[in-house]
Amino acid sequence: MIVEMGAGSTQEELSDVVERAKSLGLKVQLNVGTDRTVVAILGSNTGQISTDVFTVLPGVESVTRIMKPYKLASREFKSADSVVSIGDIEVGGKRVVVMAGPCAVESEEQLLEAARLVKAAGASVLRGGAFKPRTSPFSFQGMEKAGLELLAQAREQFSIPVVTEVVDPHDVSLVAKYADILQVGSRNMQNFALLNSIGRSQCPVVLKRGFACTVTEWLTAADYLLAHGNAQVILCERGIRTFEDSIRFSMDICSLPVIKHFSHLPLIVDPSHAAGHASLVPALAKAAVAAGADGLLIEVHPNPKEALVDGAQSLTPADFAKLMDELGQVAQAVGRYI
Ligand code: PEP
Ligand code: MN
Repeated sequence: MIVEMGAGSTQEELSDVVERAKSLGLKVQLNVGTDRTVVAILGSNTGQISTDVFTVLPGVESVTRIMKPYKLASREFKSADSVVSIGDIEVGGKRVVVMAGPCAVESEEQLLEAARLVKAAGASVLRGGAFKPRTSPFSFQGMEKAGLELLAQAREQFSIPVVTEVVDPHDVSLVAKYADILQVGSRNMQNFALLNSIGRSQCPVVLKRGFACTVTEWLTAADYLLAHGNAQVILCERGIRTFEDSIRFSMDICSLPVIKHFSHLPLIVDPSHAAGHASLVPALAKAAVAAGADGLLIEVHPNPKEALVDGAQSLTPADFAKLMDELGQVAQAVGRYI
C-alpha cells in the first residue's frame, strides 16, 4: 500500500501514519521527495487491511494499493528516476556510464593493462571478476581474495572505481572492502540470502537479470536489496534464454522501456554475455544506448585470445575504443553523452 502525504502535511502527521502502520504489525519505508513524502506500507497481509485506516488520518492525500509483487522498486513508490552515485559518477543521469574490463581477474599484468586501456578509451568503471560463478566446477573459479587485491591496486593506480561479483553471502563484507560496486550475477538473482546480505551492506550493487527470470521477478528481487534501506541499486539486463541459439542469450531490448515504465531504478545493459561473440557486441551496445540504457557493462581483454574466461566475447582494446566513439554519437542522438 502506498500512502501519499499532502504537499503541506506536517512531520507529526507523517509520524502518525508510520505509528498506525507499526501498530498493525506492518513495516514502512519512506520516500522523502522534494515537495511530498510517500510512505510504502509493507507486510504480507496488507491486502486484508482497509485503505480507510490511513485515508482518515490528517495530512494523507491518497492511499493506493500496489497490486504488483514488487513495491519499493516501483514507480508508485518513487516516481522520479533514481540516481546511484559512485564517487562523482552518477548512474541514472544524463551520462551513459561505461563499465569495462575483463570477465575475470587473471594476473596483475592482465588487470593493470586492462584498467589502463579501458580508462584511456573513456570507461569510468573497471569490471573484473575475482569470484566466478562457473557452470562447471572444473573451470577456472577466479583468483578470489588475490583478485580483489589486484582490483584495489588497479583502482588506486588508475583512479577508477571497480565493480566485481560476489557469489557467497558470507563474502559480502570481504568483497565490499575492495569493491565500489558489488555485482549479483545472473545465476544468483534469486539467491535471497545473498540479496539480504548485500542489502544490509549498503554497498552500491549491480543486480543482473536472471536469464530465466521475468521483469517482475527481477524487480521483486531488487526489493530484497531495497527493503534493507540500500537505495544504491542498479539493474543490468544481460540477455535471457529463449529458443534462439544463434547467440549466447537473447538480449531482451524490450525490457528497457518496460523497466523504465514500471521502475525508478537505473538500468544498464551487458551486451557481452548476451552476444557470446565479440563481433556482435557493438551492435547490441549501440541498440541498448538508443533504447535508453543508463550505462553498459562490457567485457574487454588486453588479449582476448589468451583469456581464461569468455575470450570469444571480449573486445580487444582497439575495438573497444572504436565502439566508445560510435556510442558517443548514439548517445548524442538520444540526448545523452558518454
Ligand atoms: C559476468 O559479468 O562476469 C557474468 C558472469 O555475467 P552473468 O552473471 O550475466 O552471466
Ligand atoms: Mn564473462
